[in-house]
Amino acid sequence: MKVASVLIPLPVPEAFDYEAPEGMTLARGDQVAVPLGPRLIRGVVSEVFETTGSNRRLKSVDSRLDDPALPAGVMDFVEWAGRWTLSPPGEMAATALKGLRAPSPRPERKVRRVGDRQPARATPARTGVLEALGERAMAGADLARSAGVSSGVIKGLIDEGVLEIVEIAAEAAFDRPDPDHAPATLNGDQAAAAAALVDGVTGGGFRPFLLDGVTGSGKTEAYLEAIARVLRADPAAQILILLPEIALTQALIERITARFGAAPAEWHSGVAPPRRRQVWEAVVAGRCNIVVGARSALFLPFVNLRLIVVDEEHDSSFKQEEGLVYHGRDLAVARARIEKAAVVLASATPSLETLWNAQAGRYDWLKLGARHGVAVMPDIELLDLRQHTPDPQTWLSQPLRLAVAETLARGEQTLLFLNRRGYAPVVLCRVCGHRLTAPDTDSWLVEHRYTGRLVCHLTGFSMARPKQCPSCGAEDSLVSVGPGVERVEEEVRQLFPEARTAVFSSDTVPDAKSARALIQRMTDGEIDILVATQAAAKGHNFPRLTLVGVVDADLGLRGGDLRAAERTYQLLAQATGRAGRADRPGRAILQTWTPEHPVLQALAAGDRDAFVEAEMAEREAAALPPFGRLAAIIVSSENAAAVEKVAADLAQAIPNAERLEVYGPADAPLALVRGRRRKRLLVRADRDVNLQAFLRAWLTRVKIPASVRLTVDVDPYSFL
Ligand code: ADP
Repeated sequence: MKVASVLIPLPVPEAFDYEAPEGMTLARGDQVAVPLGPRLIRGVVSEVFETTGSNRRLKSVDSRLDDPALPAGVMDFVEWAGRWTLSPPGEMAATALKGLRAPSPRPERKVRRVGDRQPARATPARTGVLEALGERAMAGADLARSAGVSSGVIKGLIDEGVLEIVEIAAEAAFDRPDPDHAPATLNGDQAAAAAALVDGVTGGGFRPFLLDGVTGSGKTEAYLEAIARVLRADPAAQILILLPEIALTQALIERITARFGAAPAEWHSGVAPPRRRQVWEAVVAGRCNIVVGARSALFLPFVNLRLIVVDEEHDSSFKQEEGLVYHGRDLAVARARIEKAAVVLASATPSLETLWNAQAGRYDWLKLGARHGVAVMPDIELLDLRQHTPDPQTWLSQPLRLAVAETLARGEQTLLFLNRRGYAPVVLCRVCGHRLTAPDTDSWLVEHRYTGRLVCHLTGFSMARPKQCPSCGAEDSLVSVGPGVERVEEEVRQLFPEARTAVFSSDTVPDAKSARALIQRMTDGEIDILVATQAAAKGHNFPRLTLVGVVDADLGLRGGDLRAAERTYQLLAQATGRAGRADRPGRAILQTWTPEHPVLQALAAGDRDAFVEAEMAEREAAALPPFGRLAAIIVSSENAAAVEKVAADLAQAIPNAERLEVYGPADAPLALVRGRRRKRLLVRADRDVNLQAFLRAWLTRVKIPASVRLTVDVDPYSFL
């Protein structure tokens, strides 16, 4: 008999076997309906094999669904990703089907001829309608307009049975990109990089690249040219470009549209579900060449994927922390390997992992030298706050204020960067010292003045600012401590009442549309001073921006997790890189209490290599990534005793292993989130240890009760 192993969207570690009924041909990737308990559920065939009678009685596959099969590359990818991240493979497969599960766009009502039926009475208006319509189907209103008649004429023809109304599924047309629409003339470095990329793609095997060049050096232009040549050689080639933030997609989509004369498909959570379904169907049918998307686009059913671009590859937003835990960049490399395609990781500040791979020769390292054209890198100054301490309750020092005033006077733009949303990060009681926290979470409430609320940034909990201290009951005793972007903007408005200011953070710019509007205002010079979190520090190109002021350059350095220094370096290099991208020179001022800090020294000297070398040496000494591997296990539950028990059981059950250590269990730094107690364990292993095999062996030894959630995070980025 024939057996089909079927991946079903449930948290189970493997596929379920079903009998493949006589006469039903099934293959890997087929979508099927299978019985599960009393109901039928959708699954994907992972494998079909012959067996000579077994004593188990298998249930039968109910039916093979009409929906397109998942291509082999996607199947290999979801199964690999499931093993790598220790996630249920069925849930990975379900992610690949998400676009198909979205509702179809509503069909359009159109009119068309019924055979060659003629009207009983042929007036000029009626003849005009039939001529305008021809063999097509058209919306009634459009037809009336193009024939120059009233809608009554069309209705009359429908009543007579000459025309009929049909419902036509809206099929999205994806225009083919034209590689020769508007080519750019590349400079020498760009041309060499583009040629290497094209070689990588046409060579036909897996080829990973690092495209490394300062902000504004023309990386985007270089990979667009490579895409053009790939499309010239193979008009059916599919290309995926991943971006870390939805806010960046619009600008890239516009550039691609201008370059190729056709808009790429867009894929992220901000795209309406019916549209996502159209994209999914076009991708699996090979009707769509270029997709620009967020990390989940990696799961799209490409049939001829030749090139993946991961732009701003260092960005930790590529790490998905909720639901399926995975790193978009790492999975992009895996997908390219499976598809035998090329992958380009592009950044001005590559991650240490990627640099390490490039240094070892595993990735081809393409370097772009200077900024394109006349633009030069900004001057970066460290401003010692010990010498230039701002007045109490203000955050901008005299020299920075002066620089803003000069920039304003020249009619140029300033970006004030502070990676903190809201008005004040902490609210405390002057009388008893109590700090306000969310009721069910260990994190401080952040004051937001625009909305007048205190917000937990972790869970989204919010409440009105109370009149009395919730702890001691004192009246009007609460004070806001420290600045967020809203508070810096308040200071700017007081200092420069004539300037046009705006705040750019995920609060003021919650979606792609509002991001586009604000970016447009900035580009058009309608804003003089933009106060922004990291949401505005990445990737954007503002030609009139010449001054970047970093309000608190020490902020990220205090965190002290594995990547604190690396992240701070990347963020500040990106933020300061916004200045002077066109023909006017830029300047960046970093306010700091610790100008001697090596990260800040490297930034000021523009010496990325020195920073990387020092940071690599520290990681190597501690055998931490990229020199070693990490995995975190987080145990959480509303039941504190159950968390303790599972954590203790895990500690008891650690398998013997060499060149590997387990730390913990310990209370997580955020020991309470949404009412759930949390404990963490951390595994460190040498690179040659099979970490996943160790974790699998370990976790099968411990029984996890239903009240406890266990999350495995391979290569964690958050240590909270
Ligand atoms: P990056 O991706 O490295 O930040 P971009 O590709 O966005 O750099 O280039 C920065 C700016 O320089 C953009 O405005 C881009 O249009 C322009 N530019 C880059 N290369 C060229 C080129 N070869 N010809 C004309 N303009 C270019």
